[in-house]
Amino acid sequence: MTDGEFRQVGFIGLGVMGVPMAANLLRSGYALTVHDLDASRAEPLLGLGATWAEDAASVARAAEVVITMVPDSPDVVAAAEGSSGLLAGSRPHMVWIDMSTISPVTAQQLAEAAAVHGIDMLDAPVSGGQKGAIEATLSIMVGGRSAVLERCLPLLRCMGTTIVHIGEQVGAGQVAKACNQMVVGVTIGVVAEALVVGAKAGVDPGKIRSALLGGFAQSRVLDVHGERMLDRTFEPGFRIRLHQKDLAIATSMARSYGAAVPLSALTLELMNGLAAAGDGESDHSALVRVYERLAEKTVSDAAEAMSAAPR
Ligand code: NAD
Repeated sequence: MTDGEFRQVGFIGLGVMGVPMAANLLRSGYALTVHDLDASRAEPLLGLGATWAEDAASVARAAEVVITMVPDSPDVVAAAEGSSGLLAGSRPHMVWIDMSTISPVTAQQLAEAAAVHGIDMLDAPVSGGQKGAIEATLSIMVGGRSAVLERCLPLLRCMGTTIVHIGEQVGAGQVAKACNQMVVGVTIGVVAEALVVGAKAGVDPGKIRSALLGGFAQSRVLDVHGERMLDRTFEPGFRIRLHQKDLAIATSMARSYGAAVPLSALTLELMNGLAAAGDGESDHSALVRVYERLAEKTVSDAAEAMSAAPR
């Protein structure tokens, strides 16, 4: 057990990320009450000692701090509002940590709604994927008052190793997360672009990746996603549909603050095209398929002769 002030924790949203994050809290000794729209998602956690609650309001009634980890802005609003929402079941001084990736504007609006109920809110989106959630090595980007974060740190440290307080304003964490998704999305796009053009030129894209990993072009994306492109391992991981959502958040955020993000906008369009072609549930490294269609060449059949004539 940690020295944290909180003992009773609620967890709403038990998907790819939520289950391992909640499991790490249970293993650290917190008492957990859990809920998901799909009750079957709770099974692995009930085996570890979690208690099931019928709705989000019942989670809040049982908890001092409630974590939400659901897909998108409307899902967080649905978990929060209405007679079965967590706000209805909350008591003053409860803390609500939303760890989903959502719009910074929605996060601010939810913090205002929470304040009416006397609840302190943090937005704390994460990076590090399912692997980071399982290994408790997530990077957590926090927006909200330092005093609230201070009380939540022992709990957050059970889920992540890098915890950065981005700003005092709720929504600041979501701004950082949108920036994260811009960098990851655009990098996946240019890695795909490079491997496909290399293949089209008749050069082995696996060797291109190996060489680039030793120079200035080195990146985690080139390493992990580049390998996935070469091996054709497109099961998620992180789904194209979630990355579409995140780049839509980033481009809309940029527009509302008067900044241009042309590379992110283009990458979003490529992901839109990929989803329209039926690949929305694939891992985001499947973005390479768009480039392969445009070049009529796949990176995996690049063993063809170097002598291929340029077109
Ligand atoms: P997921 O789709 O696997 O799981 C989401 C869960 O939330 C589902 O079980 C769903 O039934 C539940 N849910 C939806 N609305 C609900 C509601 N109103 N009340 C209760 N439960 C509800 O999604 P995920 O991959 O776990 O992602 C969750 C969040 O984390 C998303 O915002 C995503 O962008 C972000 N994220 C995901 C990854 C990743 O690698 N998967 C990495 C970093 C961040």
